[in-house]
Amino acid sequence: MLPTFVRSTPDGTETGDFLALDLGGTNFRVLLVRVSGNGKQKVEMENQIYAIPENIMRGSGTELFDHIAECLANFLEKLGIKDKKLPLGFTFSFPCLQTKLDESFLVSWTKGFKASGVEGRDVVGLLRKAIKKRGDFDIDIVAVINDTVGTMMTCGYDDHHCEIGLIVGTGTNACYMEEMRHLELVDGDEGRMCVNMEWGAFGDDGSLDDIRTEFDREIDAGSLNPGKQLFARRLNKMVRLLVPDCDVRFLRSEDGSGKGAAMVTAVAYRLAKQHAERQRILNTLRLNRDQLLEVKKRMEEEMNRGLAKKTHATATVKMLPTFVRSTPDGTERGDFLALDLGGTNFRVLLVRVRSGKRRSVEMHNKIYTIPQDITQGTGEELFDHIVHCIADFVEYMGMKGASLPLGFTFSFPCHQTQLDQGILIKWTKGFKASGCEGEDVATLLKDAIHRSEDFDLDVVAVVNDTVGTMMTCGYEDPQCEVGLIVGTGTNACYMEEMSNVELVDGDEGRMCVNMEWGAFGDRGELDDLCTEFDRAVDDQSTYPGKQRYEKMISGMYLGEIVRNVLLDFTAKGLLFRGKLSERLKTRGIFETKFLSQIESDRLALRQVRSILQHLGLTSSTCDDSILVKEVCSVVSKRAAQLCGAGLSAVVDKIRLNRGLEKLSITVGVDGTLYKLHPHFATIMRETLKDLAPNCEVTLVQSEDGSGKGAALITAVACRLRDAGK
Ligand code: ADP
Repeated sequence: MLPTFVRSTPDGTETGDFLALDLGGTNFRVLLVRVSGNGKQKVEMENQIYAIPENIMRGSGTELFDHIAECLANFLEKLGIKDKKLPLGFTFSFPCLQTKLDESFLVSWTKGFKASGVEGRDVVGLLRKAIKKRGDFDIDIVAVINDTVGTMMTCGYDDHHCEIGLIVGTGTNACYMEEMRHLELVDGDEGRMCVNMEWGAFGDDGSLDDIRTEFDREIDAGSLNPGKQLFARRLNKMVRLLVPDCDVRFLRSEDGSGKGAAMVTAVAYRLAKQHAERQRILNTLRLNRDQLLEVKKRMEEEMNRGLAKKTHATATVKMLPTFVRSTPDGTERGDFLALDLGGTNFRVLLVRVRSGKRRSVEMHNKIYTIPQDITQGTGEELFDHIVHCIADFVEYMGMKGASLPLGFTFSFPCHQTQLDQGILIKWTKGFKASGCEGEDVATLLKDAIHRSEDFDLDVVAVVNDTVGTMMTCGYEDPQCEVGLIVGTGTNACYMEEMSNVELVDGDEGRMCVNMEWGAFGDRGELDDLCTEFDRAVDDQSTYPGKQRYEKMISGMYLGEIVRNVLLDFTAKGLLFRGKLSERLKTRGIFETKFLSQIESDRLALRQVRSILQHLGLTSSTCDDSILVKEVCSVVSKRAAQLCGAGLSAVVDKIRLNRGLEKLSITVGVDGTLYKLHPHFATIMRETLKDLAPNCEVTLVQSEDGSGKGAALITAVACRLRDAGK
């Protein structure tokens, strides 16, 4: 069971001129194989048979390889291609221990060969040496293969299901494509590799003695290597009898050891070329440290521009004051309603906050869907629907008639001039209801409540989900002064010095600033990092040109970036054998949760395949699965690094605001992408550590910031209001 380092069978796109040497049968041959792929799939061959005299077969290894080089020179001369340096595949059909595609150590001679000083040596090295010694021509030895492998590869060129090679001639042997994870001799678990079984030696330990006859023993005793190579029987019919569950087709392979060697070389060439092309494309999605530092620097600049009155209007990172001036102190109490709009679902919550010894937060909530036609309809329809849901919830909780204080988590960029007011700047995350931008959402909500004439509510606070996230975490951990969301969209908030918040009067204390950092890049700050895939995703989005940073990071877009890369790879023939499926052309079909699935789990390849099957890519190979996985991890890594770079700017700003050498701070984080992706949090943490080494940042998962957080903000506001009365 020897690894051969042949990792793929032909896909029919191979093309070029290849040389092959075939040593191991009765004859020694040199071949020139012309492969023309891309539709034509034609293979033409020229070949010349050379004899290997008995004395050379049994002489010294040097003599043998000098002879081979001599024959090769003669062949090249004859065809007039001596100056071409063509790639060559070397079929060497003896038991070898292969360590690379082009490195193979002869274990022991068989089939009458006995040349001295070759066993235990790398035969490619010996051949290269012999050629170099002559100095009259040069070739590129790409692969050394066994004739069984050649047989499989030759058939594989015409039949993509051919994954077994079998020889029954002078000797017998077989090879097949084995899963890498079963191949403990070679590092790596992914994909497949052809294994040369060397099954001829089966029985050498006596395991076939009970079925050997005296004739077998006589033949064995008279052979060159007595005790070896017992198993030489034809099995074809038996196979069908013994494994009735497998539909095995036997294809006669023509000239596997010649054409096959060229084919292995051609495949290796194709793989190398395709690999280089794929990496070139993926490299556009990879960021180095300098680029990340640059992102941090530009984020810092935009933050300052957003905070300053003079530059606020043109800043992409809006740094919106939230009028939340402090985190909870534990004395808050009462029943509150909370609305959560802006995520995947719309929710209504009842939150009971208790203070003192029984300090706790208890929540009841109900999820409502907002149909797509309502998110894209009129503002009135949207808010009537919301009020309808509230009425249903209040009734459901048996609280009809109570007028509770309400916190409205509205996770879209809003201008606030006071806590209970939020003027929608622009819709994001797929919402498009008309007549809302530029309006106060609290007023829109109150108007809808009045229209319903059903109940009354006291809208106390308009809350952004990042702020809710920070407040929820802050209820447990007073060091929590940053909130971060990485879900459908991405955003962050933090406690900024009032003296820096120029949009609000007063210099005392701090105020939470809703950064709205998703729009970072909208002035072109990220253009040099954007790839054609980012541009494609942006073009196809609901608001092209907007939320550029978010579109490189958040759950709504990562799957789409991956899908666009896969489309490009397929169109370039680098994936799925160049066959585009209709489903993959469908926007949104590659969900971001697939990235999490594909990038986790030991059995990932199987999962990748089932996901690809779901995408209608039933003929995907395992190489395809490996590549899809690589694309996913490149895209999610970039997202986590970009997010980490942004956050490093935030924590370093807080540190400098306070004139500290070192800052210890907690970030409350929410969002399904952050929570469920197997590597996002780790990569983000590493990036932070690297880019903001003077900040000791603790990332804490925040549970239900938009519900609990909204209630806490409302509770704090009620406490302050009551105290003021
Ligand atoms: P929101 O941000 O809308 O409040 P979530 O935090 O639940 O809601 O984020 C939803 C986003 O998370 C969706 O865009 C979805 O693509 C993504 N998502 C869902 N499941 C996973 C997962 N297992 N891994 C990564 N992302 C996921």
